[in-house]
Amino acid sequence: MRAACRFANRLPYPRPSSRRHLLTLAIETSCDDTSVALLEKHQNGSATLHFDSKITSDNRIYGGVAPIVAHESHQKNIAVLVEKALLSLPVAHKQDASPGGYDWSRTVALGNGSLTTFRRKPAFVTVTRGPGMRASLITGIDTAKGLAVGWQVPLLGVNHMQAHALTPRLVAALNHPQEEMITKTLDPPFPFLTFLVSGGHTILVHSKGLCDHEILAETNDLAIGDMLDKTARDILPEAILKSAPDVMYARSLEAFAFPEEGTSQYERFEKERRKSSKPLYGWTVNTPYAKLGPRIAATYKHEFSFSGIGSCVKGIAQARTDMDTPERQHLAREAMRVTFEHLSSRVVLALKGGSLQGINTLVVSGGVASNKYLKHVLRTALDKDGYHEISLNFPPPKYCTDNAAMIAWTGMEMFEAGWRTELSAMAIRKWSVDPNSTEGGILGLDGWLNVKS
Ligand code: AMP
Ligand code: ZN
Repeated sequence: MRAACRFANRLPYPRPSSRRHLLTLAIETSCDDTSVALLEKHQNGSATLHFDSKITSDNRIYGGVAPIVAHESHQKNIAVLVEKALLSLPVAHKQDASPGGYDWSRTVALGNGSLTTFRRKPAFVTVTRGPGMRASLITGIDTAKGLAVGWQVPLLGVNHMQAHALTPRLVAALNHPQEEMITKTLDPPFPFLTFLVSGGHTILVHSKGLCDHEILAETNDLAIGDMLDKTARDILPEAILKSAPDVMYARSLEAFAFPEEGTSQYERFEKERRKSSKPLYGWTVNTPYAKLGPRIAATYKHEFSFSGIGSCVKGIAQARTDMDTPERQHLAREAMRVTFEHLSSRVVLALKGGSLQGINTLVVSGGVASNKYLKHVLRTALDKDGYHEISLNFPPPKYCTDNAAMIAWTGMEMFEAGWRTELSAMAIRKWSVDPNSTEGGILGLDGWLNVKS
């Protein structure tokens, strides 16, 4: 379905009188993290995160995210987090006060009687509308709708994957000093490439505009994070699995494979590989599509395939139940190397295709982007093919995994572009960012309003 944009005069809420410091409260509940953030964007384009907190449901006994457990955790925690966030709302300024006292339409009163403080009311409420697990999304959306109606401000229901893609722009705004006179321009500017590598997604996106993200390659089976989590359970010693703080076993896999700081451990590993003509322990982790030969393999340039790596590692682990720690560590390194080289091959093929113009940045976002070895493999692959000028942009890990700050930022960019979401908008399980997808991309969904049309 194509964009169902209606017009400003149908909007139920007035425009905020001052755009100098836009404030939004944002909610993210698409998977197993209940997350709430308060973000303010200043006149010079910088941003301040007044509140950013999340609670992750404990799914360890299930070995992966169990939808009912995640849903119950959202129900339990969302209101608690929102109440905490309200305490971080900035104190109301003079312009928020009317001659007779504080203007209730612009403030939120906290406490009661003599202890009442007046805080600035968010200009709008942002929430993840999709993609994600329906029940989980609904908990966040219903809470956001309640806040928007209670505060009489607009609602912004944004796309989770768009938010991952825009994360580096949030980070640049957060790093720009609020006092600086020079206005911050959005950085990186469009166009740029984005790898969204998470527990649920593996896509290479050509981001051409706020709502225009063309998918150049995507997985035809498992998501990279999902495969690495499963693979980690086959590789990691029992004691490490038992002491893992959550089900992000891929994170533990990285710590097990490369326990030191810095890149010299990667170089040592690569040198060791080059030195020996035979596999060190008698097994090999196969590269996807390698058996097809280079010409046929290249026809799969729009696809990633990770399930083969997973089954190959499982086979090795089942055949060698008595693996000692160095062999397990080598298997962990090989599994990651093959996975990341396969990922890198798709960006190199896309760049070699010649149809991409003006690309200077490759953003790597999503939970798997926290992996430092991935950064090393990607840089090596780009340099090997002469793409030295393409800079890699890895947002800090806390903004790479699911978080409400990136949702708040996406709400900010969409709000400034004039977009609002109808209160009747529903959660959506599958919602591609690509305008050429069957859903029509970000704006293809019903429920959008634009005050600038
Ligand atoms: P997300 O779906 O964006 O919240 O990301 C979660 C996924 O990222 C899970 O599959 C995690 O195991 C994975 N992940 C988190 N940290 C790392 C890491 N250091 N290396 C590889 N994968 C990771
Ligand atoms: Zn995500």
